[in-house]
Amino acid sequence: MRIARFTTGQDPRFALVEGEPGQEELVVITGDPIYMPVQPTGERVRLDDDAVRLLAPVIPRSKIVGVGRNYADHAAELGNEVPSAPLLFLKPNTSVIGPDDPIVLPDWSQRVEHEAELAIVIGKVTKDVSPERALDHVFGFTAANDVTARDIQRSDDQWTRAKGFDGSCPIGPWIVPALDTEDLQVTARVNGETRQDGRTSQMVFDAAFLVSYVSEVFTLLPGDVILTGTPAGVGPLTDRDVVEVEVEDIGVLRNPVLRRG
Ligand code: ZN
Repeated sequence: MRIARFTTGQDPRFALVEGEPGQEELVVITGDPIYMPVQPTGERVRLDDDAVRLLAPVIPRSKIVGVGRNYADHAAELGNEVPSAPLLFLKPNTSVIGPDDPIVLPDWSQRVEHEAELAIVIGKVTKDVSPERALDHVFGFTAANDVTARDIQRSDDQWTRAKGFDGSCPIGPWIVPALDTEDLQVTARVNGETRQDGRTSQMVFDAAFLVSYVSEVFTLLPGDVILTGTPAGVGPLTDRDVVEVEVEDIGVLRNPVLRRG
């Protein structure tokens, strides 16, 4: 199953996505499936209909929790050790944008980079859950780009500005519930050229462990998102690039890059 959030010009609605790539149809459902059982309204819309625009499949109710250095080869490329416990940071929900929304490069950074990541979408109020029970609290998985102002990450002691700015968290194109995420390919392409190509099996801490660990720090609310870290190959984004993050068995999250002014 794939669950998208979309608009045809009015209020956002949710839909199941059916069909092969390029032929997808949206089967419209009533309400938000994180909170309500999935129930089709009977309306179907073609994804390539000009009126249809996919939105971020979820706007996190309270937070996005990022995990730094969760792939050894990425930690090494930036000259860091793999941490002995997950290295957590927060991105505000105002950093979220959806498929095809532009990533606007902030004026105060000269080096903004892509980070292709598997994202976990929480389905239930979660506090102090064990790794064994953690996946029972997950609504599904999507793709994310943990866009990072690398120069600012180095110059500021805190990562808030480097990773929290508007547009720094593209997510989508939809949520896949009940996905086995032990060994999925995670890639980033810029203008069609592959920059990152890793597998979730290379993560130091897996999805279940991360949900458990994060839930010992924060109460997770339905719709909150955990970013699971990025494989090696991060690199710069410049004006008019098109960046694609693809997670196997989920889909492709594509965003144009713009520098204003
Ligand atoms: Zn990241």
